[in-house]
Amino acid sequence: MSGRTDAKGAFQERCERCGRDTPHSVSIELKTESKKRENAAYSREPYRVATCRLCGDTTSLRMNNA
Ligand SMILES: [Zn+2]
Repeated sequence: MSGRTDAKGAFQERCERCGRDTPHSVSIELKTESKKRENAAYSREPYRVATCRLCGDTTSLRMNNA
């Protein structure tokens, strides 16, 4: 069992491309959903974006599961 906190500020998460747990940089982004044109103010959803530090692949997770 090796330490999981070797990389500063990194989250160990599963990367589908790497096929294993890798260090990720995590940020929060607001994305606009273009399909609801009339409610643009309500269509901006916060997404948690994790970027794999090994392959650069990004995973977006919608935080609002309403
Ligand atoms: Zn990866």
